[in-house]
Amino acid sequence: MTAAAKGVAIAVHGGAGTLDPSAFTPEREAAYRAVLQQAVRRGHAVLADGGDALDAVEVSVRILEDSPLFNAGRGSVFTAEGKHEMDAAVMQGRDLRAGAVASVQNVRNPVTLARRVMEGSGHVLVSGRGAFEFAHRQRLELEDDDYFFDSFRYEQWQEVRGTDAVRLDHSEGEKKFGTVGAVALDGHGHLAAATSTGGMTNKRWGRIGDSPVIGAGTYANDASCAVSCTGNGEAFLRAVAAHDVHALMAYKGLPLEEAVRIVVHEKLPLLDGEGGLIAVDRHGNTVLDFNSAGMYRARIDARGEEVAIFR
Ligand code: ASP
Repeated sequence: MTAAAKGVAIAVHGGAGTLDPSAFTPEREAAYRAVLQQAVRRGHAVLADGGDALDAVEVSVRILEDSPLFNAGRGSVFTAEGKHEMDAAVMQGRDLRAGAVASVQNVRNPVTLARRVMEGSGHVLVSGRGAFEFAHRQRLELEDDDYFFDSFRYEQWQEVRGTDAVRLDHSEGEKKFGTVGAVALDGHGHLAAATSTGGMTNKRWGRIGDSPVIGAGTYANDASCAVSCTGNGEAFLRAVAAHDVHALMAYKGLPLEEAVRIVVHEKLPLLDGEGGLIAVDRHGNTVLDFNSAGMYRARIDARGEEVAIFR
């Protein structure tokens, strides 16, 4: 158990969905838990050292992107063309600056590219070939397609290849899950959020989910909270889910837990939105909530450390 440094808090997720406990061997569960724990502890260490919330969420998400277990970075699912197109976003609550990338290929850590977009591009959201060129110019680490190949993801794709079906990583029962994200409050009172994903298996036409869309899958505002979502992106986009949590707090004065409950258990289900989100407020309260069977998640806050998968 890691004791939380005073006044800081961090939470991470690795996707939510139809997680079936009986499909997990103890080894498999331990593997997921180990990466989640490493991600949350490394992010927390940044905060404990007096670092920024934005640095903390980037560090945590990079660890999850580098793991083939999650549908982000290295473990990203296959598109209809057999490629990996990744979406990611970061936002910092102190000045509402944000950066995001959509449908980017061959970038090892899309979350870092999203941060560079925020800091050095003059834009908020860049996509596709242009995003790749920007990554190249920023001298970010690039990888061949082989790096992103994973036999499990390949099998997932074979099941729907050549059909019109797209598949959420979540709805796979026994299978791997996965969009990743992190939210943090630092010792200076600032909030930040980051989300990264490979999207949906067999996606085409340049489909983009909620993760890189500020306000839908990712949002942070020092006045209220930082939020990172996971679930079927189309519903989260229509619900403007992450910003809705902020709005319920800012305009209605609700506490974080109640705002999250309304979005996850009342608003999203009306749109067939399955999944969940992690959030932290400016007092360091964390909420990790979902309307699916499970969500890969971890947190370190004033109550200590928690790593969990099922309800
Ligand atoms: N929200 C992501 C998307 O729709 C998927 C996920 O959370 O796993 O792209």
